[in-house]
Amino acid sequence: SPISQLPTSEELVRRADQAAGACGVDLASWRGEHAVGSPINGATLHSLPWATAADVDDVVERARTAFRVWRTVPAPARGALVQRFGRLLEEHEDDLAALISLEVGKITSEARGEVQEMIDICDFAVGLSRQLYGRTMPSERPGHRLMETWHPLGVVGVISAFNFPSAVWSWNTAIALVCGDTVVWKPSELAPLTAAASAALLQRAIGEVGAPADVSQLLIGAPDVGEALVDHTGVALVSATGSTRMGRAVGPRVANRFGRSILELGGNNAAVVAPSADLGLVARGVVFAAAGTAGQRCTTLRRVIAHRSVVDEVVESLSDAYGRLPIGDPMAEGTLVGPLIHGRALGAMTAALDAATDQGGTVVAGGARVLEEQAADAYYVQPAVVRMEQQTEIVTQETFAPILYVLPYDTLEEAIAINNAVPQGLSSSIFTGDQAEAEVFLGPEGSDCGIVNVNIGTSGAEIGGAFGGEKETGGGRESGSDSWHAYMRRATNTVNYSGELPLAQGVDFSV
Ligand code: NAD
Repeated sequence: SPISQLPTSEELVRRADQAAGACGVDLASWRGEHAVGSPINGATLHSLPWATAADVDDVVERARTAFRVWRTVPAPARGALVQRFGRLLEEHEDDLAALISLEVGKITSEARGEVQEMIDICDFAVGLSRQLYGRTMPSERPGHRLMETWHPLGVVGVISAFNFPSAVWSWNTAIALVCGDTVVWKPSELAPLTAAASAALLQRAIGEVGAPADVSQLLIGAPDVGEALVDHTGVALVSATGSTRMGRAVGPRVANRFGRSILELGGNNAAVVAPSADLGLVARGVVFAAAGTAGQRCTTLRRVIAHRSVVDEVVESLSDAYGRLPIGDPMAEGTLVGPLIHGRALGAMTAALDAATDQGGTVVAGGARVLEEQAADAYYVQPAVVRMEQQTEIVTQETFAPILYVLPYDTLEEAIAINNAVPQGLSSSIFTGDQAEAEVFLGPEGSDCGIVNVNIGTSGAEIGGAFGGEKETGGGRESGSDSWHAYMRRATNTVNYSGELPLAQGVDFSV
């Protein structure tokens, strides 16, 4: 049910100016020809100049110069920069959250959650700055020491998607900075104000701790700026988050010049609902994972695979909950579903619902556009539930909108096969009261995804674990755990203090 009156454009512009200004971005003196839109009502918030591909050389060169200094700063001292940045994020949580809502339409609590995630990764990275451990292993030769050391890698190019307009950058940047790397960021062209405000806060921290200014640089621009970064031999690691289409272009280009990449691409995430599942928990977990962020998370739940004995009940409780979802102004209290990012997303959703119907499905809840009469250029939809008998072609695609397909299964083996029979491999979960079933799903014959959960939805990961997925999701891992390895180069060292020269494997080469 649509609930809110949408705010006026003047109100949105005022909030954007105020939030950006508080973070140190003076919008009044920064104008260009590229409009920054708000999905809340279609208003233009501001117009900005864009960088071009020709600017990339100079920016990368400056990042390389800064790297030569930054790599020699002790890691715990690098951590002090990230620590200061984290505190500034805390101070400006409301400002950044407002910009995220204004530019990408997240509801306030999710926008604040995104900033909280940035603060969390800073805390993690500060701890990591004293834990960049290398191993020491026994040498087979007497009087020798064998060990591994980890060194800063170089310039990291971060390309990010609209739906996590600043958290993805901070996952990469907080870790890259403590690892001694410098960062060039090409944010989504749909969220440049969030990017500028986030980068300005980091720049303030850089000034305060006296780090080189160019350890962090921002390139707001079109995909061709991202392409130039991808092709630049001065960029040691490209961390690219976005659609599988983008990753398919980026991956081979980086590989072609023997660069490193972390690819974080599309998902098509499923939850298996077993007969023993707590169906109350399922309803709550599924609604957040499927309808939250208006279905625009990489980890959004897009498929429920429910045992035939419970599938009707699951569909009924989801339809009921979907009918009560408050849709509208994401910054208004009580709203749970904000707008889609643009009209193309609405077009993709409509086309997918048509295809699902053609392929034998039935739309059992939602699917209609709402609030059109208040704002013709804003795209609000009722999240949809579609009952399918089989996993047809449309179900195997990621449609970046709130469509949840519900499919029946008979055996756990079949449920796992359905879960795995899509090209993407990001997130998955099983709702079950049967521990053996949960273990099978978690095990080598279970879900083939990078994220596998039990009794919780597919979205809303914590920063402490490694984040990423398999197959067309790209195989990258970032954020917590040992993901930092990707941001450093490893050297294996053999130190001989024996005064002799015994060769490995007993080779005899005496002359
Ligand atoms: P997108 O692919 O349209 O754009 C992402 C970024 O890539 C933008 O900054 C864009 O300018 C840039 N880009 C596009 N083509 C490029 C090219 N050829 N070379 C270099 N850069 C290029 O994605 P989007 O619409 O912003 O985001 C939605 C998609 O992102 C969904 O598929 C979603 O699943 C995915 N996503 C994945 C993750 C993850 O961690 N796996 C996280 C968030 C979003």
